[in-house]
Amino acid sequence: MTIEHNLQEIQGQIQSVCARVGRSEDEVTLIAVSKTKPVDMLREAYGAGVRQFGENKVQELNEKIPKMPEDIKWHLIGHLQTNKVRQIIGKTSLIHSVDSIKLAREIEKESEKRNLVTEILLEINVAKEESKFGFFLEEAAEALCLVREMPHVRAVGLMTVAPFVANAEENRPIFRKLYEFYVDMKSKNIDNVNMTVLSMGMTGDFKVAIEEGATMVRVGTGIFGAR
Ligand SMILES: *Cc1c(COP(=O)(O)O)cnc(C)c1O
Repeated sequence: MTIEHNLQEIQGQIQSVCARVGRSEDEVTLIAVSKTKPVDMLREAYGAGVRQFGENKVQELNEKIPKMPEDIKWHLIGHLQTNKVRQIIGKTSLIHSVDSIKLAREIEKESEKRNLVTEILLEINVAKEESKFGFFLEEAAEALCLVREMPHVRAVGLMTVAPFVANAEENRPIFRKLYEFYVDMKSKNIDNVNMTVLSMGMTGDFKVAIEEGATMVRVGTGIFGAR
């Protein structure tokens, strides 16, 4: 199957889920996760209309950016080491994977040097999996409070990587929990925190995630094929 075909398939599924749960499809942004895939495939996706790409490694992102058109919005979705922050500040549209205050402080420091504001999401480990990065939900409110004190970091929402499950329904309670927290935080109107993004759902579970309120879904395999 071609990338264009896969893309139409995923977009069609997003539309029908949105229609079914009474959401506008404009509320859901599809991020094409192109990690490990060659630039040729990214170009093909670009040709089919994709403008938002997700990568999980700083080095790979830096290799791909100069080879692709300038109107692309790049999303960093993988764990970011503090010593690599310097290399990507100013290049991303959004960093989804801010999983510690130490990392947020480093982003603040490097963004200040370049005199810009970096938009981020706090990564939340809703299921408390040992193998995953992210704040526990119980820590997230405090983390948001600390981040709002950083003038060059803007927390615009939350992200989670749900457990790998055979049946996407198993992740519904995870997505629901994060949505509830998201709505709760939105209603509190914390200064410098304007939450509009809820990044959750991948190839296996994006439909359930949209049903539960996702505003960004990160789809790799479904668009580019198996890695
Ligand atoms: C790889 C990855 C995805 C995409 O996963 P697929 O199952 O291929 O859709 C989404 N989010 C993160 C954080 C990833 O690392």
